[in-house]
Amino acid sequence: MITRSPSRLESEPWQQALAAAISDPRELLQLLGLEESSLPLPVDHDPDFPLRVPRYYAGLMRHGDPADPLLAQVLPTRRERDPVTGFVTDPVDDLAAVQSPGMLKKYHGRALMITTGACAVHCRYCFRRHYPYAGQSATRSWEAALDGLRRTPEVGELILSGGDPLALSDRRLAALVSEAAAIPHLQRLRIHTRLPVVLPSRITPQLVDLIGASRLRSVVVIHVNHPHEVTRTLGEALWPLAAAGVQLLNQAVLLKSVNDDADTLVKLSESLFDRGVLPYYLHLLDPVAGAAHFSVSTERARAIERALWERLPGFLVPRVVREMPGAAGKSPLSQL
Ligand SMILES: *Cc1c(COP(=O)(O)O)cnc(C)c1O
Ligand code: SF4
Repeated sequence: MITRSPSRLESEPWQQALAAAISDPRELLQLLGLEESSLPLPVDHDPDFPLRVPRYYAGLMRHGDPADPLLAQVLPTRRERDPVTGFVTDPVDDLAAVQSPGMLKKYHGRALMITTGACAVHCRYCFRRHYPYAGQSATRSWEAALDGLRRTPEVGELILSGGDPLALSDRRLAALVSEAAAIPHLQRLRIHTRLPVVLPSRITPQLVDLIGASRLRSVVVIHVNHPHEVTRTLGEALWPLAAAGVQLLNQAVLLKSVNDDADTLVKLSESLFDRGVLPYYLHLLDPVAGAAHFSVSTERARAIERALWERLPGFLVPRVVREMPGAAGKSPLSQL
């Protein structure tokens, strides 16, 4: 008789989809009908940050297009090995901001918790791709992180980050959110996640309940870079969150050959708004080792920002920002 572990039997459909994510570049290329030789850059294998992409997201890529903007975000290439001056492992001084284990505090009134190192997708330009999750996160226990928060009454907003906080089970998230809600000086809960974008089934009714029913006012900030990621399925998954009173925002990263043109970003803002999401930040790339080939010049970013102001209502123009290590908040491009 085959005995299966209870956790396997109990796992939810989204957890099964997560476990079935594609991790072999050859499989992904085959699925897309692409020959390795047709790609603009040779594929690479990085054991420390391997390919990881859920099948739903791979299904949004265009068949037979080696320059697909979604493929470019996830496919490891040889370019990542090129050392480039100024591109480093901790580009935004995260480690200098560790206040208690797993808790980063850089800005007034807000603290950010590294809840897990796990993500549903591995984005090649990720600024935390070299983050030492094993030693500096609240993955195993968040008590020390929450203790730090309890001792800092100035903090009114807790940001759950990672990794991706929605990689945690609903049961663990519910425990975390209820501990946070018991801290009297907390008013807001913010969740930074890309999971709904790459696996919309992650937004379970339990998740909506646990966020929507909390006494904390909540904000979910998703991470979408290209209009092809904004699907009807995503919109339908997000809707119950909006209906539960959760504010939905988006942050994107300005990425060369993915979304570095005004047409794409105009479409992105409009399609997000159609699904109930407002643009929040458009981040200039953090100079993380391995991602230099995604970098867009400041001049080009300024020209794109001007075009967005000319073509969109103000509420659909994202704040174009850069994170400067040591600054008191994100820095608007217009003030750099
Ligand atoms: C980006 C960031 C925040 C959030 O900044 P907002 O401007 O409030 O969105 C908070 N803490 C840390 C450590 C951050 O890196
Ligand atoms: S989902 Fe976010 S944290 Fe995870 S790899 Fe992508 S950018 Fe990095």
